[in-house]
Amino acid sequence: MYEEIEEKINYTFRNKDLLKQAFTHISYAREKGTSHYETLEFLGDALLNFFIVDILVEEFPDKREGTLAALKAYLISEEFFNELAKDLDIVDYILISRGRKNVSIVGDVFEALWAAVYIDSGRDCGRVKEIFNKLFKKRILETVRNRKIRKDYKTMLQEVTQKRWKERPTYRVVEVEGPEHAKIFTVEGSIKGLSALGKGKTKKEAEQEAARRLYEILREEV
Ligand code: MN
Repeated sequence: MYEEIEEKINYTFRNKDLLKQAFTHISYAREKGTSHYETLEFLGDALLNFFIVDILVEEFPDKREGTLAALKAYLISEEFFNELAKDLDIVDYILISRGRKNVSIVGDVFEALWAAVYIDSGRDCGRVKEIFNKLFKKRILETVRNRKIRKDYKTMLQEVTQKRWKERPTYRVVEVEGPEHAKIFTVEGSIKGLSALGKGKTKKEAEQEAARRLYEILREEV
């Protein structure tokens, strides 16, 4: 069954166990006494970060760093990796014994797959990047150019805070002003003692604005 994957990515593994490992969830590995994808995912995360940033900098050298960072935040998101994973039917090959195959697992396996190719190729980063670009570069550029990326700051912020503290920001309405038909909401977003206010015509709009401010505060921190 893994021959199909090899065909799809146009790469033949020397070590098939490594390919299998990339698709093996910890629950399955524990049951069968085999290896799972966790450390591959860790490495794959770093590789994909690099591939995406390199594409962005190469193709959009004139965009500001802040803009590139916003694009990157989406392009390395679980959501986008799930999109790419669909092209390879990743979900069909995952080995899991407990729980469901969810978007989080699919995203992780997608990352792990690229680390597996990298290690198997004798850590030939250039080769892996070439394979990745052949499959996905066009798609990535289209996504950027068609502005399919909505600036969803709540999602972007949450990804940063989950990574940093394993916590999500909270939002609360602190004020509602104006007449019934023209209300203005003020929302406070908070995380780890940091907070920012956002105003908007709806609660959702105010939350987005608060999230954008928090996102920018966090990005400026060292
Ligand atoms: Mn991951």
